[in-house]
Amino acid sequence: MAVRRLAETLSRSLVDDIYKCSNMKQTGVSLKYMMDFGANPTEKSLLLSSQFLHKELPVRLAHRVMELDNLPYGLSEKAPVLKVRDWYVDSFKDLRTFPEIQDAADEMKFTDLIHQIKIRHNNVTPTVAMGVQELKEELGRRGGLLELPEIHQFLDRFYMSRIGIRMLIGQHVALHQPNPAPGYIGLISTRVSPVLIAQNAIDDARSACMRTYGSAPEVHVYGDPNFAFAYVPTHLHQMLFELLKNSLRAVQERFMDSDQESPPIRIIVADGVEDVTVKISDEGGGIPRSGLSKIWTYLYTTAKSPLEESRHMQETPNVMAGYGYGLPISRLYARYFGGDLQVISMEGYGTDAYLHLNRLGNEQEPLP
Ligand code: ADP
Ligand code: MG
Repeated sequence: MAVRRLAETLSRSLVDDIYKCSNMKQTGVSLKYMMDFGANPTEKSLLLSSQFLHKELPVRLAHRVMELDNLPYGLSEKAPVLKVRDWYVDSFKDLRTFPEIQDAADEMKFTDLIHQIKIRHNNVTPTVAMGVQELKEELGRRGGLLELPEIHQFLDRFYMSRIGIRMLIGQHVALHQPNPAPGYIGLISTRVSPVLIAQNAIDDARSACMRTYGSAPEVHVYGDPNFAFAYVPTHLHQMLFELLKNSLRAVQERFMDSDQESPPIRIIVADGVEDVTVKISDEGGGIPRSGLSKIWTYLYTTAKSPLEESRHMQETPNVMAGYGYGLPISRLYARYFGGDLQVISMEGYGTDAYLHLNRLGNEQEPLP
């Protein structure tokens, strides 16, 4: 890949270093490895973890910088994308100028640094979304194609990488907690109950639905509330929240003006040997077959864009739907730990989403 744009604003040695690191191999870890490693954090193990991240994070960031700098259709030149690229460059520089980590004091400083880096990157997703939205509008005006498979593949790699980087940093920082909650190893809980997480996600998604429509369909959960397995509860909550918002919206919009009562959404939790599977079933009318492949792209939504609405109305954007990011990002979260997400639709009736979560957790991170 070329370094043309980077070379316009950054020093030669920095550009060379980014180039060098972008050609190094990224090293993946698994959920099981993170659990075994973090089960009894000691000064020694935290030092090792820091040393690993000191090497690994610049490599992962450099891969992203190079890609951000070489996007098609002029996406690299869009102001929001340049801003994100600069965050990646700044974090790369911070890590590369941090001296070798030798003792517990260095380790504390390093942990602080990566925590700050994580915060710097908090708004990456909406910022990149803004750049993509600009491109979409521009191409739309020119009557161009809106499918853009390269952009979609780039975003899949980019967000997958982001999930991994944030998991590694988050896990390392969380291992420093002096009094972890029972059953927790950093961000991982060894006893995640899908039924309980589903209940929390239902409360959150129904509140969002209430705010948007003034009412919300019921959701019933089927499964053993005492069943638990090792997972990252925030990831599971995020995925269920997105799937529920989609189902609630579909059911709500289909039944809102009818005399019929809206049929409840059903969540079924299955505890298998390989997988824990959660099915979310709704009778919201389904998705036409011609639209099914589009639901996985980042450009597709049938809701009004909240970016557009907030531009006109200066209000907090509607969180219910409209970015088109819910499904593709949820699938990345599932795949990150070796699971998957499938959506099956019966047009005219409803939609089933199958969320598969890998139980053994020894699958290594996918590294784009
Ligand atoms: P968003 O909800 O922001 O539009 P998503 O990626 O969550 O983005 O979903 C993309 C599109 O897929 C939705 O706009 C909707 O048209 C369709 N969709 C997703 N889930 C369902 C569902 N359960 N029933 C009907 N349509 C759905
Ligand atoms: Mg959605």
